[in-house]
Amino acid sequence: MGQIHELNSILADQIAAGEVIERPASIVKELVENALDAHSHRIDIVVENAGLDSIRVIDDGDGIEAGDVALAFKRHATSKINDRKDLFRVQTMGFRGEALPSIASVADVVLTTAQEGATAGRSIHLHGGEMVANQPAPARRGTDVRVTELFFNTPARLKYLKSPHTELMRITDIVNRLALANPAVAISLIHNDKELFRSAGNGNLQQVVAAIYGIQAGRKMLPVQGSDPDFTVSGFVSLPELTRASRQYITITINHRYIRNFELTKAIIQGYESKLMVGRYPIAVINIDLDPVLVDVNVHPAKREVRLSKEPQLAKLISQTIRQRIAQENLIPDVPAAD
Ligand code: ADP
Ligand code: MG
Repeated sequence: MGQIHELNSILADQIAAGEVIERPASIVKELVENALDAHSHRIDIVVENAGLDSIRVIDDGDGIEAGDVALAFKRHATSKINDRKDLFRVQTMGFRGEALPSIASVADVVLTTAQEGATAGRSIHLHGGEMVANQPAPARRGTDVRVTELFFNTPARLKYLKSPHTELMRITDIVNRLALANPAVAISLIHNDKELFRSAGNGNLQQVVAAIYGIQAGRKMLPVQGSDPDFTVSGFVSLPELTRASRQYITITINHRYIRNFELTKAIIQGYESKLMVGRYPIAVINIDLDPVLVDVNVHPAKREVRLSKEPQLAKLISQTIRQRIAQENLIPDVPAAD
């Protein structure tokens, strides 16, 4: 007999989880993105002990059909794409069908869900990827996912986690970015019974900026807007006088997906020309609207990095848009360039 055999699905899911679920913040990201894809208006995130004890995400979205609930925990099972052509025009946050099975393979998960108008909902319980229960539940519209005992069966992962303080910072950071990317959705974060963040969900991006960076900062943000035949760029950037010591306060979203991109971040900074002091960076939230065919989100399992067609053209548009807006302001004299 040969030595090659297929891994059982739970082990395969655990291996996949290694790429998608690194820490509590990754779970928050995946669950909130699922809630966003389900057209939720309101998403509440409730976390205990920086997510190490419990993470719960409650939404008021579409819900899952009772008969589909178990399937949602199968790897590569998704309602979001059908064929290869869809893969090249992804409009949703998710499409890989990996988050739920990955999370379930390394934790204890209870998902309760109901669709609008359904007479009953459904609740499913999995422990380390094994199904414990799948039973009727109250017909409350939306989905409620509770994750506990994170990494109970992957001790190395558990050890690799940083202090609760650091893990909580990462959760707060991702929640802030998701809220900046989706100002029309009311998002709240509660940690150990204390509210850390809440957005109104009224579509006012400047208010979300103020909720995160403070009211003073919110007042010193300039709206920006620019477009070319391929891209529309909009958002808020701080006056040159309002800076921070790191690039972390720059958020870039593409079609409401928060991404990290060095070149585009650089383009934002370049929009300020010589108006920033060395080592100082603006606060900025820039959303880019584009035809999904211009972006490949299937580069990294966590989808933080994307591949963009026409990136130099977009970088130019961003710099130009910001440069023009700042020039209009002219509130403070130029700081001499350092070099
Ligand atoms: P993906 O998001 O890539 O499709 P997931 O494993 O995250 O994969 O979720 C699997 C499926 O479960 C989704 O395609 C969706 O149909 C359903 N689902 C998950 N979370 C929610 C939710 N909060 N509301 C409605 N449906 C959900
Ligand atoms: Mg998903």
